[in-house]
Amino acid sequence: MTETTEIDTSFEQFSLHPRLTKGVERLNYKKPTPVQQQAIGPAIAGTDLLVCAETGSGKTAAFLLPIIQKLLLDEAPNSSTRALIMAPTRELARQIVKNAKMLTQYSHLEIGQITGGDQLKYQKALLRKNPEIVVSTPGRLLELIQHNAADLSDLEVLVLDEADRMLDMGLSEDVLKIAEACNKDRQTMLFSATLNPRGMASVIDKVLRDPQTLEVNSVREQQQHIVQQRVLVDDSEHKSKCLAAILDKETFHKALVFANTRSQVQKLYGYLHYKGINTGVLHGDMGQDERNHVMYRYRRDQIQVLVATDVAARGLDVDGVELVINFDLARNPEDYIHRIGRTGRAGKGGRAISFVTPYDWNLMIRIENFINTKFEAINVSGLQARFKGPKKIKSSGKVAGTKKKKLDKKEAKGKNRLRDKKNIGKPKAKINLGDGMAPAPIKKT
Ligand code: AMP
Repeated sequence: MTETTEIDTSFEQFSLHPRLTKGVERLNYKKPTPVQQQAIGPAIAGTDLLVCAETGSGKTAAFLLPIIQKLLLDEAPNSSTRALIMAPTRELARQIVKNAKMLTQYSHLEIGQITGGDQLKYQKALLRKNPEIVVSTPGRLLELIQHNAADLSDLEVLVLDEADRMLDMGLSEDVLKIAEACNKDRQTMLFSATLNPRGMASVIDKVLRDPQTLEVNSVREQQQHIVQQRVLVDDSEHKSKCLAAILDKETFHKALVFANTRSQVQKLYGYLHYKGINTGVLHGDMGQDERNHVMYRYRRDQIQVLVATDVAARGLDVDGVELVINFDLARNPEDYIHRIGRTGRAGKGGRAISFVTPYDWNLMIRIENFINTKFEAINVSGLQARFKGPKKIKSSGKVAGTKKKKLDKKEAKGKNRLRDKKNIGKPKAKINLGDGMAPAPIKKT
């Protein structure tokens, strides 16, 4: 008889500290998500991890639970900061802090947030209190390290969340400098939606020691529960009309609209507001209080549509975002994945619609190839685009309907003269094109 061993898929398998278990129960987490199932065990064992996981997969708890477990089991009252979590944006950092506070609410552990926008002197005072866990964006933390205001010499765990985004934002140097200032004997965990962006290999090399790689979802699997569609559009005005029509006709709880520039986001906000759509706006030019206020209202359903730049693309976890619209197509496939990851959170369904102008066509193909999925073509009724996609390519490789431009006499003459000049002094070659053969090579004399 063969024996089958049942895999324990409950949180009990991790023997979490009772205070932490209470936090998990409070959050109503019944069983670990796949990334938690794979990462928590090795993380508690102290292994360095390189984790490729879906945004919205529960990866925050995948690193928070092992950290909190460690800090609760080994008390170290005289230590400086014991765990540092770095995230690319303030919003993501805030969200991690919120999650950490919920999970530690039955313990004495303190969480500190160090992000740009807040006053340096308050942050120095905060760090003097030695919170056990610090969540930060790289720029501000580096500033504090340079002011000798952050002590990372006792650090036990370092987490780089959304590492690919930090690289994208040009933060890798800051991240490496901070890692350099950390205790060398720490454990490091790196989380990223994709593991192969340029520059990642060197960061992995420099910050991780013998890491275990966990690839929880392939890029394609990550998006399976999101319906991905495209609408062909002609220009900005046409896009605005399509956007207003979609928001007016479709049913959704909340929608998130992405544009590539702050000025475009601001313009769209004005336009949708004028159309009577309950809209909010989020971009990097806004003050932190304003940004927090908008997110607060969006989370509480006081705003139905949020128009944003990519500051909202990463890691943000807002319940009920059922529709993502790429008013401007994301600049690259990675950003596209992050944007649409704002819908379909925690396995729920979602829908993403991308507007595609003639200029975006090739980029769209690149995105489709990257995610290995073809977008479903849809139209907005009454607003069909003149653009119908690129013209068909003939088997000859030429675009149908185009003729080779005839050279006028002057141009042709000019060309001949140039060729003649180049060949001065060379013997004339005999070219034999008979029987479909290649031209005979020119013999050197
Ligand atoms: P994250 O990927 O960390 O942003 O998490 C996405 C969402 O999943 C958040 O709303 C979490 O609170 C939720 N979540 C995380 N872990 C679990 C779990 N084990 N069970 C249910 N929900 C979870």
